[in-house]
Amino acid sequence: MATDINQTKGIILSGMRPTGRLHLGNYLGALQNWVALQQEYKCIYMVADIHALTTMESPLDVVDIQPNIAEMVLDWLAAGVDPEQSTMFVQSQVPEVMVLHTLLSMVTPLGWLLRVPTFKDKVRQMDETEESVNYGLVGYPVLQTADIILYKADTVPVGQDQLPHLELAREIVRRFNHRFGDTFPEPKSKLTEAPLIVGLDGQNKMGKTLDNHLELASTPEETTKRVLTAFTDPQRSTRSIPGRPEVCNVYSLHKLCSTGDEVATVYDECTTAQRGCVDCKRHLAGNINQYLEPLRDRRREFERNPDYVNQLLDDGGKKARAIAKQTVGEVYEKMGLGKYV
Ligand code: SF4
Repeated sequence: MATDINQTKGIILSGMRPTGRLHLGNYLGALQNWVALQQEYKCIYMVADIHALTTMESPLDVVDIQPNIAEMVLDWLAAGVDPEQSTMFVQSQVPEVMVLHTLLSMVTPLGWLLRVPTFKDKVRQMDETEESVNYGLVGYPVLQTADIILYKADTVPVGQDQLPHLELAREIVRRFNHRFGDTFPEPKSKLTEAPLIVGLDGQNKMGKTLDNHLELASTPEETTKRVLTAFTDPQRSTRSIPGRPEVCNVYSLHKLCSTGDEVATVYDECTTAQRGCVDCKRHLAGNINQYLEPLRDRRREFERNPDYVNQLLDDGGKKARAIAKQTVGEVYEKMGLGKYV
């Protein structure tokens, strides 16, 4: 049966920017958790395309949005996000989120937004100043609040770094409810201990920008080729020198994708120089490929019907929009704006 957002089970809202094909870091850090949450909650998973616009650096970036949405949602499905259990939709296809964003901005002091630590980080990363940065980036947490409360979601899975955003959402909700009467639940955080997945460079978080990632949908050959480029213990210039697994990212990836016995063997053989790094990487690549095989098989099934993803997102968008209209209608009345059409 299709998901009914109006029900008594807790409601989770989470989203991802449309970055195209996902990588192992996305899977282990978030997507795997999304799949698990479906057992306990009614889940609403959103392609955050409007959020992606807040940090676009070139008009050319928008060309990729549509193909990226399709590729990313295929990975959601392949990982096990189930359209029978969860609603999936594209943020911009529910324009009420932009209406609610504007209305919430009437109860959100600018100072609250300027003190969010991630705002300052983003400004620095984009090489901007607080004066030159676009308003969309300043108002990002207000839009995020609108995303959550538009569907009266009560729980949001977050990492430690996202906690200030959620606290801000709660403050906005409190202020709105205080001024206009009880309307929205205060969203709770569901802290997820996502492991930090370091990329093939052995130094930075796995990500596409640094090209240190392993795509979920790659072929086994492509995966092996990339794993062979992975950075290892820099002191191990020849095989006869014992390695230090604790500083080697290949070992960290073994811990995520190999069995406990295999990890123990890697440790022993590395520290006694019985194992070479190339063999170790081939072993890891084999295990990653085995680990991802069911996901890749499912993805191929979904790819056979190119219209499936669009239809799914269309249906999800309609379902989400029906709820969104009700919510905005309620907000219109409470804010003295009359009837929302
Ligand atoms: S043998 Fe494996 S764990 Fe040891 S340094 Fe080489 S790649 Fe890393």
